[in-house]
Amino acid sequence: MIPIAKPMIGEDEISAVADVMRSGMMAQGPKVKQFEEEFAKYIGTKFAVASSNGTTALHLALLAHGIKAGDEVITTPFTFIASANSIVMCGAKPVFADIGADFNVDPQKIEEKITEKTKAIMPVHLFGLACDMKPIMEIAEKHGLAVIEDACQSHGAEYNGKRVGSFGTGVFSFYPTKNMTTGEGGMITTNDEEAATLASEIRNQGSKQRYFHHVLGYNFRMTDMAAAIGIVQLSKLERFIEARRANAETLTKGLAGLRGIVIPYIPEGRRHVFNQYTVRVTLGHRMNRDTLMAELNRRGIGTGVYYPLPINRQPLYRDMGYEEEMPESEKAASEVLSLPVHPAVTEDNIAFILSVMRELSK
Ligand SMILES: *Cc1c(COP(=O)(O)O)cnc(C)c1O
Repeated sequence: MIPIAKPMIGEDEISAVADVMRSGMMAQGPKVKQFEEEFAKYIGTKFAVASSNGTTALHLALLAHGIKAGDEVITTPFTFIASANSIVMCGAKPVFADIGADFNVDPQKIEEKITEKTKAIMPVHLFGLACDMKPIMEIAEKHGLAVIEDACQSHGAEYNGKRVGSFGTGVFSFYPTKNMTTGEGGMITTNDEEAATLASEIRNQGSKQRYFHHVLGYNFRMTDMAAAIGIVQLSKLERFIEARRANAETLTKGLAGLRGIVIPYIPEGRRHVFNQYTVRVTLGHRMNRDTLMAELNRRGIGTGVYYPLPINRQPLYRDMGYEEEMPESEKAASEVLSLPVHPAVTEDNIAFILSVMRELSK
């Protein structure tokens, strides 16, 4: 079986963890600080604040920008549930704006959703592709809104030469299926010193000084074992990304022109880092998406559907009263199919995937 995702862990990650364990400094210690500094430098921000996972990092980023009950945050319905849930965790209301051809939120649709309650925009850079950040930043500026970028799938992705996570306050995940991992882990990146300070305090029980608490905080700290893995993974990230991009290019060349298969759309000026290689299986295909997927799996090719149900249609959100339809997200949910693209996918694997896809798309 060619898996749809595979973490790339070597002996250097293993010995880095063993070193931390021998040192005895295992939680929110020197390795976490080093990882934060190196990650901020990589993304191109002044500050980075590590946390226990991507979901807590999203929650922290929103809290650090003062998002609270009664506020509205505009985001996409076509994403992992944690994007919208983190807004709900703050007591605020996610307001959905539909997506464009790049699977990301459509800036024009954001503007239509702004009310006097809107406090922030949360663009999600899905699958490794940056959102259209120029109009998004212009809208945010015009209306005085914070921008919390969910970059959990897009470490190293760029928009006009600038890395995602450096436009507003960025949020990253280091879950094992992401482009780099720490097992579990998350990170906020920002140039906003006040937000960085508040995030680091909320992460640690809402304290500036031990046992004195000025705001409601949580335990969202990262371990030094995780940070030690992250430091090694970050040093390999560009190599991982280049391997993904090369695999994606070969897939795209081989799939171009197949009937009923739409290859990933990459607008000019964006460096796609291919956390997922996602095609659309349209009505023109002789199989439907789910049948094609089952056939690929039967032949040993791992696939994924990210995501089968837009968030506004999830039972949880239906129960919260969400009714508005999101036609583009709905369409994407019925068409998307992700193929293996990670660095452990070999040239032979890709040749096999392409030959099967060609055979099934005749
Ligand atoms: C993975 C992911 C998250 C959550 O990260 P965890 O580390 O799993 O908590 C949030 N948003 C998106 C878009 C993700 O892909």
